[in-house]
Amino acid sequence: MKISSKDFRVPAGTQVSLGKWPTRVPPAYKSKKEYRKLLATHIEALSSLQALHYAADRRAVLIIFQGMDAAGKDGAIRHVMSGVNPQGCEVFSFKQPSAEELQHDFLWRSTCRLPERGRIGIFNRSYYEDVLVVRVHPEILVSQGLVAKAPAENTFWEERYRSIVDLEAHLHRNGTRVIKFFLHLSRDEQRKRFLERIDEPDKNWKFGAADIAERKCWPLYMQAYEACLSATSTADAPWYVVPADDKQSARLIVSQIILDLFKDLKMSYPKTTTERHRELQAIRKQLVK
Ligand code: ATP
Ligand code: MG
Repeated sequence: MKISSKDFRVPAGTQVSLGKWPTRVPPAYKSKKEYRKLLATHIEALSSLQALHYAADRRAVLIIFQGMDAAGKDGAIRHVMSGVNPQGCEVFSFKQPSAEELQHDFLWRSTCRLPERGRIGIFNRSYYEDVLVVRVHPEILVSQGLVAKAPAENTFWEERYRSIVDLEAHLHRNGTRVIKFFLHLSRDEQRKRFLERIDEPDKNWKFGAADIAERKCWPLYMQAYEACLSATSTADAPWYVVPADDKQSARLIVSQIILDLFKDLKMSYPKTTTERHRELQAIRKQLVK
């Protein structure tokens, strides 16, 4: 079954109701073997497109991953980008901001890490945390010293959405292509993955008490995601809601969407001029001698 990127894209101006977006879809593979084959094909295609992207040096690509704990962000990044030349790709994981970062506006720490032209930048969490976890826990803003008391009305968050949309529009105008993935996990699947993290000793490190505290806020997170996806999915920097209950399926969907983005860039290797060709031939003669 062919994966169609647009089935997962949030059209600009849509009011997102996450209950209507599936967390599981019929997979594009019939067996584990077929999954591995499909993923390998995607990875190979991505690897050659990335080499071309690097050589063409015209655009930058920023890929943002968001999702609830255990949604599979790390695994998706690891598997999908496994064939990409590490020189052309950088991954940043955004945790609680440092004291220095808090002295700046909320976009500052991300703008310092934007990808250069010819590169791929991956954000594992991002400035979107500032309208997600911070919206669910507005007391964070007070502890950061930004406001005296938690903002009661929506204006504060709408202004942050506007800052984000403006930043992404600016990036697009200046040659950076931005895509954003929300790995859409069901609450029940999160429960199963948490249990695995507790039951399997090698996964214990991935689990913390904070994860359970955040799980209790699930409905508030869903509301924050809905408001955020509705306000910040634009034609130039779209959100994709990826059904994440099946990790393999999610990885195939993510890799297909990234492939489609690269194909849309219509890149080509820099052309060799006649003069340059002559120059290369002259050097060649010397080397052969
Ligand atoms: P995993 O899914 O494996 O648990 P993770 O991305 O949750 O990985 P953690 O180290 O568990 O990594 O958590 C990072 C935490 O930092 C998250 O709870 C996230 O909400 C929080 N965080 C990120 N950015 C901000 C921010 N700007 N303000 C407050 N908290 C933030
Ligand atoms: Mg976590």
